Amino acid sequence: MAYNCWYECIRDRSERYSIFDVIYRCEDCGGLLEVEHDIEALKDRSAEEWKQLFDQRTHSKNFPFGSGVWGKKEWIAPLVRDENIVSMYEGNSNIYNAHRFGEQIGLPDLWLKLCGNSHTGSFKDLGMTVLVSVVKQMIAEGKPIRAIACASTGDTSAALAAYAAASGIPAVILLPRAKVSTAQLIQPIANGATVMSLDTDFDGCMRIVQELTEDPSIYLANSMNSLRIEGQKTVGIEIIQQLEWEVPDWIILPSGNLGNVSALGKGLLMMKELGLIDHLPRIACAQSANANPLYLSFKNDYKEFQPVQARKTLASAIQIGNPVSYDRAVRILKAFDGVVEQVTEDELANAAARADRTGLYCCPHTGVALGALIRLLDQGIIKKNERVVVISTAHGLKFSEFKVQYHQQQLQEVTSRYANPPLELPASYDAVVNAIDKLHLAARF
Ligand SMILES: *Cc1c(COP(=O)(O)O)cnc(C)c1O
Ligand SMILES: [Zn+2]
Repeated sequence: MAYNCWYECIRDRSERYSIFDVIYRCEDCGGLLEVEHDIEALKDRSAEEWKQLFDQRTHSKNFPFGSGVWGKKEWIAPLVRDENIVSMYEGNSNIYNAHRFGEQIGLPDLWLKLCGNSHTGSFKDLGMTVLVSVVKQMIAEGKPIRAIACASTGDTSAALAAYAAASGIPAVILLPRAKVSTAQLIQPIANGATVMSLDTDFDGCMRIVQELTEDPSIYLANSMNSLRIEGQKTVGIEIIQQLEWEVPDWIILPSGNLGNVSALGKGLLMMKELGLIDHLPRIACAQSANANPLYLSFKNDYKEFQPVQARKTLASAIQIGNPVSYDRAVRILKAFDGVVEQVTEDELANAAARADRTGLYCCPHTGVALGALIRLLDQGIIKKNERVVVISTAHGLKFSEFKVQYHQQQLQEVTSRYANPPLELPASYDAVVNAIDKLHLAARF
């Protein structure tokens, strides 16, 4: 059972590097690196045996296998020793059968994978547990690493700060000033990270952190770092496991820096290679029309890629104009017969609010994915009888300003069609009864 993994350049596939090296790009050509696994070794278990093992470990108390990520350790990072694993039992988030919202939009078989139900409230925990665990092992083996650093639109930094604090490794965080929510700003502050709020956007923070981490004692935690992709790739495996190992027709997700779609595809391809599934779902990436470089490239058959200046969007975690994982994502979209759709601010806010009315509590990014789903249904690209899984990337509780302003009709470019402001009433029984009677008359849904 000598499982192995290493880094390989995604362009030329020639050089191999250890995952315990401080390296983010190919030394020959500057291409992105990808973690490759010894697939032949993994074939020592049959597809059925892997499924049984993964099912057995789900919610197990046996550390670290109860984590949704580490329950698949052999496929993710087999070289990390258990004593170095920094885990909050991430993953295994609920997959929610959104039949009421689905019926409203004419798609009965709709599911939401609630990745925001996680320690720091977003899917970023899935990748961060792997990255911080690898760094812990590097430090244990004597690598002189002083800190882990990232640029962030708010969720990567929250995850890094929490996992770094849990392991006692210092974290340095660069955030674009006034472009993250209050909850996202306070998370790394509370966890004791060094937080720098810079007068720029995410792309500006990213440029600085790349320069900063040319110093090998400061380790880069952005998703250019493929270790995060390894953890995040469990999302697709988990979705299929939760659907009793059946492949849905579509998986839709909001996309910004394009790490998550790359990770989703990578996990699914591994399942196919090892025989756990016999075909692939289609993938749809959803973007905000205000930050849509992938959408523009898709419309152009990926012939050329132009970074854009990302404009302000309520979906702040995907306000990215120059996505780092563009090359990776295009490969995945081609392999999965993928599509890219964009939505306006009005569409994303109303899609989120409408879904909330059916019991969800959507972040604006999930609103982007739901808005794109509605568009793809309208165009007949997604069929009404298909099974669709939407990846909900963060918890709505991180975005209270967005929700408050929506229900107060205060969002720019948005007409709040599902606003539900509280009734301001005097403290009298009659006033309350009258209000309730009126509610019965007015059709509120
Ligand atoms: C990071 C993030 C995304 C985008 O993921 P990418 O890998 O950058 O494409 C979407 N939604 C939320 C809530 C995020 O935090
Ligand atoms: Zn190379």
